Amino acid sequence: MQLTSPRLRAALLAAASLTLVAAVVPPPKALGIGDALFPELGNPGYDVLSYDLSFAYKDNNSPLDAVTVIDARSLTRLETVNLDFTHGKVASAEVNGEPAGFASVGEDLVLTPARPVEPDLPLHITVRHTSDPRGRGDGGWVVTDDGLAMANQADAAHRVFPCNDHPADKAYFTFRVSAPAGKTAVANGVPGALPARRAGAATTWTYRTLHPMATELAQVSIGDSAVIHRTGPHGLPLRDVVPAADRERLEPWLKKTAGHIQWMEARVGRYPFENYGVLIAKARTGFELETQTLSLFESALFAGGGGYPEWYVESVMVHELAHQWFGDSVSPRTWSDLWLNEGHATWYEALYADGLGKYSLERRMREAYQRSDQWRAAGGPPAAPKPAAPGEKIGLFRPAVYDGAALILYALRQEIGAKAFDRVERRWVGEHRDGVAGTADFVRLASQEAGRDLATFLEPWLYGKKTPAMPGHPEWSAPKSV
Ligand SMILES: [Zn+2]
Repeated sequence: MQLTSPRLRAALLAAASLTLVAAVVPPPKALGIGDALFPELGNPGYDVLSYDLSFAYKDNNSPLDAVTVIDARSLTRLETVNLDFTHGKVASAEVNGEPAGFASVGEDLVLTPARPVEPDLPLHITVRHTSDPRGRGDGGWVVTDDGLAMANQADAAHRVFPCNDHPADKAYFTFRVSAPAGKTAVANGVPGALPARRAGAATTWTYRTLHPMATELAQVSIGDSAVIHRTGPHGLPLRDVVPAADRERLEPWLKKTAGHIQWMEARVGRYPFENYGVLIAKARTGFELETQTLSLFESALFAGGGGYPEWYVESVMVHELAHQWFGDSVSPRTWSDLWLNEGHATWYEALYADGLGKYSLERRMREAYQRSDQWRAAGGPPAAPKPAAPGEKIGLFRPAVYDGAALILYALRQEIGAKAFDRVERRWVGEHRDGVAGTADFVRLASQEAGRDLATFLEPWLYGKKTPAMPGHPEWSAPKSV
């Protein structure tokens, strides 16, 4: 391409001089594990086993003091250890008990241990740092009217704490959160063995996960909250975290969760975690998020009155609940596998609404079919989405991976029949429980249950620019008016 304007030429020259500056900076450098959508996310050379995160919260206008302790195993010889981390100041770092050098490079924190770490050995990392909730627009801490919550999906956990920020490396988590008297802190998983501990004016709350978790699904809520306990199917502990002042008003919604879990279990089998509940935050996020065992909702969803109809709110609750199986217990191998999270959550959301008699699955899928080519043109096919534009992370969450991906599941069910489809769903969450799985794994499993190779059938649905013909609905492909 030829440069056609002085403006473009100036922009190119500016970019070229930036490249020159970057070129003289010696290593350390930012690394990633090669995710097509987030090339610098995650880090090679080690496997995290557990995170132990301590946060000291003062107020919404101050960075939190934090300590992140990581237990990992080296996979190769490491002269430097890259973590993903930004939006905090690092005070010190240790690797295997000895002080380590540290430098921020891009969104990586590069540690240089006193001596290289040999392969296949324990790797114990301690980083003392701050975690800054102020001025956020790119995920991580969510500032609420009365405290903080977390929304780390897809690539923002490392804007809260140093980590290997990719769902392919799941780990166990312990949280220790201290907050001023009167505030309540809650995190994923179960309360620690010790009750909340008071020291002076602050209380420290501890929680730990009983199942491995992706960094993107971590949740810490600090606020003027009520924590409401009840029991769900087969004794499952339910725990909701809501603004204390809204507790009674929200009760009719909170009561519904047990029924939603029963409904999901009848379709895909046992709920996969130690507990469940909803976290209702006074924040304007514009989204809800399936943080593991404690899904985040914005309070406006439950405002009632002239707001959203009840069937819609319930179907959104079921969407986040379905993610506990699809996306949380079974994590995506790469972010291009996001359709497996959102497609399934949308599928059960739509099935639930269908069951309420409000919006039939067939109508929803027919409408999705009519738009699917447009969605693919805008965002790429469901299993090979285009990267988000810089600074527009929400851009990954496009219709092609929601209803556009539910449409793939509908096509699969049409092709192999409802019984085989149900077996695929149950085996998927059963065999990959607490694990990581991707699109190729799904095609393989569907082929096994169908008793024939489905690659030729599924690939155009997953990767095609155009939406294939829908089995059983030739009329959907009829020429559209232009
Ligand atoms: Zn979702």
